[in-house]
Amino acid sequence: MTTAPRQHWEQLFQGLNIEGRAFIDGQYCTSVSGETFECTSPVDGRQLAHIASCDSADAERAVAAARRSFDSGVWANQAPAQRKRVLIAFADLLLANAEELALLETLDMGKPIADSLSIDIPAAANAIRWNAEAIDKIYDEVAATPSDQLGLVTRSPVGVVAAIVPWNFPLMMACWKLGPALATGNSVILKPSEKSPLTAIRIAQLAIEAGLPAGVLNVLPGYGHTVGKALALHMDVDTLVFTGSTRIAKQLMVYAGESNMKRVWLEAGGKSPNIVFADAPDLQAAAEAAASAIAFNQGEVCIAGSRLLVERSIKARFLPMVVEALKAWKPGHALDPDTRVGALVDTTQLDTVLGYIEAGKADGATLVIGGERVLEDTCGVYVQPAIFDGVTNAMRIAREEIFGPVLSVITFDSAEEAIAIANDSPFGLAAAVWTSNISRAHNTARALRAGSVWVNQYDGGDMTAPFGGFKQSGNGRDKSLHAFDKYTELKATWIKL
Ligand code: NAD
Repeated sequence: MTTAPRQHWEQLFQGLNIEGRAFIDGQYCTSVSGETFECTSPVDGRQLAHIASCDSADAERAVAAARRSFDSGVWANQAPAQRKRVLIAFADLLLANAEELALLETLDMGKPIADSLSIDIPAAANAIRWNAEAIDKIYDEVAATPSDQLGLVTRSPVGVVAAIVPWNFPLMMACWKLGPALATGNSVILKPSEKSPLTAIRIAQLAIEAGLPAGVLNVLPGYGHTVGKALALHMDVDTLVFTGSTRIAKQLMVYAGESNMKRVWLEAGGKSPNIVFADAPDLQAAAEAAASAIAFNQGEVCIAGSRLLVERSIKARFLPMVVEALKAWKPGHALDPDTRVGALVDTTQLDTVLGYIEAGKADGATLVIGGERVLEDTCGVYVQPAIFDGVTNAMRIAREEIFGPVLSVITFDSAEEAIAIANDSPFGLAAAVWTSNISRAHNTARALRAGSVWVNQYDGGDMTAPFGGFKQSGNGRDKSLHAFDKYTELKATWIKL
């Protein structure tokens, strides 16, 4: 799909009336305190909106609305086929408003407009549609009982779900939660990141237009330590689903323990290894994938292939190919249709990335390309994707999630060493292996402690693939039918005949 020129997006922007209020019980409303904060675009510093700064008072209202709608059965008791119809209409409305949503997403968090339009918005709509399509095709179970008993094993919606999501794929991450949560009949409070609230706020209205009853989807913009914490500590939230950093994920488990032991499902950080063996079937494809794995979405990707493990015998040949491939990932104004690398989300993130560039140098790694701030004249937050060679797995740039376009190249001599380095991480979100040897592919994939493993590609899969992490990358899975586990309680009903 070709993306319209920048002028088109500027015209669309002129006509936009950007909503920044919360959405509770079917209506937009200001925060109880009346407080707002500024939403500024990292693309070029333009002002976008005043956002309602929700806190615990707003959480009270939203949880009460969600509870009322859930207990009334207005959504939970609808036939699955009816919930499916409403959610498919919702997915259709996301697509019908794709240009507006893509523009909001790009201006809010900086990703290239071509990506917002061709990846984020369609994937968000697809997450809603896929779960909607599934919900009237799932059966409960009848247990194997003696003939005088009937044992039913059924699933019920958990009730009130709070969904706290990050800023890197704002709408897509929200819809990975909303799809299964709403399809299974729950009522939801969505808390977008304070850095990217615009699309979440906008789609609340579209959900009502699609026929979702008031109170079933509420959206509370605001900070994590205020409204996020209030939701996580709330005694009437049944389940908390989260995508974000490992640091906050751990905190949410504490909040659950301190309150009502709500179920907590976490999709957290990563430091994913991308292992290239000398017998990779296509080194050019591996080089291009390695570049894309660190530069796509400005490297602000939980599954970024941030550790490139290269077999020593091909290192001298392969590294220049990766450097060359990365040159195609040049930062540009995020509203230009040809831009592949947009703006980082804000200057805090820029400082983090530049700080890791300094840490890499200080620890003795060699900066091969990139790593400097560029396009400052746009007033946007752009950085040139970077590669460090000579990295050891003990260095900070190999151990910590940078969440920016900084690639660490680590050399290995044997499959055993590659696997040991790959698994020597607190994270376990994703991994890739490149080889033409089918046994090595399977053996390596089996040994890798990661929720997703790709062979001879980076980032494969679709809605049918469960997505989530081992170790400190989280628990539970988004996407696929397995995601329904997060949003339902199992019930055993035993009947004496
Ligand atoms: P973050 O943890 O800072 O924030 C995530 C969300 O939590 C935001 O909405 C934030 O407001 C909220 N929050 C912050 N403090 C809180 C508190 N005390 N109580 C309740 N809520 C609080 O993460 P981020 O910077 O927005 O996103 C980047 C992180 O997300 C990276 O670590 C990345 O790996 C991770 N991520 C993971 C996945 C995955 O599926 N595993 C996908 C995308 C992003």
